[in-house]
Amino acid sequence: MILVSNVVTKIVFDTSSLLRVLKTGKIYELVIKDDLQILTTPEVVSELKDEAAQIAFESVKDKIIVMSPQRENVTLIRKIASETGDKIKLSKTDITVLALAYQEKAKVATEDFAIQNLAKKLGIEILSVLNRRIRKRIIIRKKCMVCKTVYSVELDECPECGSKKYILIRKKVKE
Ligand SMILES: [Zn+2]
Repeated sequence: MILVSNVVTKIVFDTSSLLRVLKTGKIYELVIKDDLQILTTPEVVSELKDEAAQIAFESVKDKIIVMSPQRENVTLIRKIASETGDKIKLSKTDITVLALAYQEKAKVATEDFAIQNLAKKLGIEILSVLNRRIRKRIIIRKKCMVCKTVYSVELDECPECGSKKYILIRKKVKE
C-alpha cells in the first residue's frame, strides 16, 4: 500500500489581513497554491465593506473556505480570553477567527496584537501579511567601568567621569 501525504497548510484570515491581500491582489498568488488552504469566517466576510475588496473576493470566492467554528470552540476561546484579559480587546469577529484557527489546526493571518497574544497562548502560529511583527534589534553600547554610565560607542571616553575604561554591552530594542 502506498500512502500519499498531502501536507496542506491552512490559514485563517482576520478582517484586516483579508482586506489587505484582496486589495493588493496578493490573494491571487495565494489561491493558486496547492499546498495552501485559505479559510475565514462569515463574520469576517461581512466586514469587507471596501468595494475593491468585495469585487476581488467575489472573483476568488470558490477558492476560499468560509465557515463558522463550532459553538464549543467559540465558548472555549471566550473563556480563555476572559481569563487572560484579552476579551475586552477582541471583537466577536476576532473570537470567531481564533476559534476557527484552533478548530482547524490552522495558522492565523493577523496584524492585531490582541489576536496575536491569544493565539500564542493557544499554540496557534501567526503569520503576518505585512511582515510587521514585533522585531527586536540589538545595539552595542559602552558601559563605563568606573561609574557604570552607558554611552554611545562613538564616544572615546565616558561623558560622566572621563574614564576610558569600558566594557561593551548588548541592548535589545524594539523597532
Ligand atoms: Zn564613567
